[in-house]
Amino acid sequence: MTTRSAAPPTQTDHDDLAVRTRTSVLAALSDRIAGDVYGPGEPGYDEARSGFNLLTDHRPAVIAVPVNRFDVVEAVRFAADEGLRVAIQATGHGPGAAANGALLINTSAMTDVTIDPIGRTATVGAGAKWAPVLEQAQQHGLAPLLGSTTDVGVVGYTLGGGFGWLGRKYGLASDAVRSFDVVTPDGNPLRVSATSHPDVFWALRGGGAGSIGVVTDVVIDLFPVTTVYAGNLFYPAEDAPEVMRRFAAWAPAQSEDLTSAVTLMNFPPLDVVPEAFRGKSFTIVRGCWAGDRASGKAVVDEWRDWKTPEVDLWAELPFAAADAISMDPTDPMPAMVTTEWMNELPDEAIDILTSRVRPAPGTMPLVLFAEIRHAGGAVARGAATSPNDIGRDGTFLLELASIVPDPHVGLAVESALRLTRDALAPFVTGAAYLNFLEGDEKAARSASAFSQPNRRRLAAIKAALDPDNRFCHGVALG
Ligand SMILES: Cc1cc2nc3c(=O)[nH]c(=O)nc-3n(C[C@H](O)[C@H](O)[C@H](O)COP(=O)(O)OP(=O)(O)OC[C@H]3O[C@@H](n4cnc5c(N)ncnc54)[C@H](O)[C@@H]3O)c2cc1C
Repeated sequence: MTTRSAAPPTQTDHDDLAVRTRTSVLAALSDRIAGDVYGPGEPGYDEARSGFNLLTDHRPAVIAVPVNRFDVVEAVRFAADEGLRVAIQATGHGPGAAANGALLINTSAMTDVTIDPIGRTATVGAGAKWAPVLEQAQQHGLAPLLGSTTDVGVVGYTLGGGFGWLGRKYGLASDAVRSFDVVTPDGNPLRVSATSHPDVFWALRGGGAGSIGVVTDVVIDLFPVTTVYAGNLFYPAEDAPEVMRRFAAWAPAQSEDLTSAVTLMNFPPLDVVPEAFRGKSFTIVRGCWAGDRASGKAVVDEWRDWKTPEVDLWAELPFAAADAISMDPTDPMPAMVTTEWMNELPDEAIDILTSRVRPAPGTMPLVLFAEIRHAGGAVARGAATSPNDIGRDGTFLLELASIVPDPHVGLAVESALRLTRDALAPFVTGAAYLNFLEGDEKAARSASAFSQPNRRRLAAIKAALDPDNRFCHGVALG
């Protein structure tokens, strides 16, 4: 028999009850899965909630670190039982809206990669990055459709489209998916493909990152690519208007063997940056030619003949070394990114970009880089069968990125990015590329990647799978 105290409960009693309740709830989840479970304040919690982008400072109510798909099923069912929202994180390269108060499923322990060299496929776990897939595929003369860095997660990248250096030749990574294993918001494990649950398969190939379930494995096609002609030509930053104008006319005339970009880069004055570039600005013509070497060299020679670059790093390259093309950072950093699709690159847009991205003499740049990737080819062709149809069929994809070295400059950096986008408004299509959206902007703008009919179709699929919208931290349909 329990005796009740006559005194009303104090705040301390409430706090104590909350802690005991939380502890028993977490213990219940721990009992259900083989992986780790963390609550706020527990050792391991901070590590499990952090990722590549250090600006993400979310405080999930509970974090599950599943080690297999059964754990994911249990974690998702637990969230349904407890009425918790669900957010997903593999590497933290592309965080959505903050996962405060949600169950965060951190997939980073699910890193299995299996290559089938005969069928030319890779089966990849939810937490695997591109590095092991590229390395193992290259041993068989094959390549996946990774992006600018092997440090990004395969599944998150693919769910958002995935535009890499083989894009114009082979399409987006989402085009190369054969099947997904996914745990739906009610905790059902499904294998979806063109012939099994084709609607869910369609939605996940570029429209469903984080919003209609947890993908536990993906089977992707591999392509016969071993050696490429790739790299960078570095021109002075002052030449940016000239180089960009030339690129705007030159790139659309090139074969689909070439995926290229022009980048105005303000290298930060950090030790990790090679001395030749540290603290300096350059206009870079970069890309990857996935055809015969002689033709690739001839295409790049057009630039060399036009103007000798300050540094010429364009050469024959084993595709295993594809990271050398973009030289992206791998250490976690506080980064901001935004994006626009453009069908043309008129002089006025180039002037806006160059004047806003190049720092005035003696000042620190607020925008780290503006990269304009040339799309079209297989990137645009795949639009007709993809949910993110208008989010991939432009001619040029602009990415603007910044680092926020100190929280005090966060607002200044954010407004520099926003004002640059605002100034470019007359020249953009209005559609966003999902993989270059983060945080609140991902929630606010992701719907713009889909045409009206596709948005309606996605909304119907979402409503059937997640009627309570508990998976609300990824792509949002507006
Ligand atoms: C340095 C750098 C270079 C990049 N280069 C390119 C590039 O060349 N091309 C390109 O297209 N993109 C590029 N990106 C963008 C990148 O593809 C996206 O940020 C992508 O979302 C990262 O996926 P992730 O799993 O690594 O990141 P996370 O932040 O862990 O995940 C991103 C989002 O994907 C969803 N998600 C992740 N895993 C799952 C899952 N298992 N099931 C369901 N949803 C899931 C979640 O909504 C999550 O919020 C780059 C990003 C960075 C930081």
